[in-house]
Amino acid sequence: MLGLYIHVPFCSAICNYCNFNRGLFDAALKNRYVSALIAEVTSPATLPKDPPSRQADTIYFGGGTPSLLEPSEVGEIVRACRAAFAIADDPEVTLEANPETVTLERLEGYRSAGVNRISFGVQSFRDDELRRLSRLHSADRAGGAFLEARGAGFDNVSLDLMMWLPGQRVDDWLQSVDRAIALGPDHLSLYLLELYPNAPLKEEMARRTLRIGQPGENWSQAPDEEAEVMYGEAMDRLGAHGYEQYELSNVARIGHRARHNLKYWTDGSWLGFGCGAHSTVGGTRWKNVAATEEYVARIEAGGSAATDVRTLSTTEQIGDAMFTALRLTEGVDLDGIQRKYGVDPWACFGDDLQPFIDEGLLVRQNRRLWLTRRGMLLANEVMAVFV
Ligand code: SF4
Repeated sequence: MLGLYIHVPFCSAICNYCNFNRGLFDAALKNRYVSALIAEVTSPATLPKDPPSRQADTIYFGGGTPSLLEPSEVGEIVRACRAAFAIADDPEVTLEANPETVTLERLEGYRSAGVNRISFGVQSFRDDELRRLSRLHSADRAGGAFLEARGAGFDNVSLDLMMWLPGQRVDDWLQSVDRAIALGPDHLSLYLLELYPNAPLKEEMARRTLRIGQPGENWSQAPDEEAEVMYGEAMDRLGAHGYEQYELSNVARIGHRARHNLKYWTDGSWLGFGCGAHSTVGGTRWKNVAATEEYVARIEAGGSAATDVRTLSTTEQIGDAMFTALRLTEGVDLDGIQRKYGVDPWACFGDDLQPFIDEGLLVRQNRRLWLTRRGMLLANEVMAVFV
């Protein structure tokens, strides 16, 4: 079945580390954008390639900050998806939300609109760290938002946390992990902070490093070995509290793996709507124009927003299937890929992957291949084989 991704590019403020496709909230543009989204979802003729079926079982509102949309707007978009696709009886409908944007009433509204999973961008349960990231919420607001989501009836709530933050040491990070565990979400995503070139946060960290020795906070990142401890200790603590790690960055209670994201990691098909959204259907891939205004203008003119339409070769599809499946703790089923594509993936990539097995980053047992804990931390090196 298909997954449907809906991109919402608006944010109340731009965080100093953010490299996503987003911009500042603009009410007039947002109204036009919602209409454009509905038009795009309900005009399948604009798709460069027909999906193999029009059945879908996940809808994912990502951003940006989707919780800046009114519940009624989310409801309209969900209805558009239902009008254009055969939505399964038990779909997963996720909305990414920032803690400062929600209230009990708004969350109840999203629930009535058909959303059944909330993913909060918490990042940290320490106010000093949140300030350094220029986030608008406090640790208490994050906890409050979680409880409001429970109060609104959400029994599937995910929290995003980030480690290796400026000035953060192992104990600081584990405070956030412990506070998350105490709340008891159903799913957690744990990311390492990645600083892209020219990120304002990166520049601020460099400025503060120059001032070391003078009064003020130390914003340097912990050494690499500490980042390894952060990751390993968090996964161990979560495991001891009933959370199963099923992907490099994701843990879940039984029955709460992210069904939409699993489509990305299991060689599935999905359609992306909205500016900058990516789609992959039956070996064809495309992305929509990234700029919000251009996206809206194209859809308003009755056209398609798709660009960079590309049909992948069989080897590229196998490489992508391996690349994404290696993110899963259960790893790659080499026979499954061979059955799907008629080619032995080990024959394509085995020579390049063997050195990582020799180094202890990868394990191959029979026809299954997976990353070790150390391999997960150095996954980028292994994944470079498929790029
Ligand atoms: S709220 Fe999220 S998408 Fe928006 S600027 Fe911050 S990190 Fe980026």
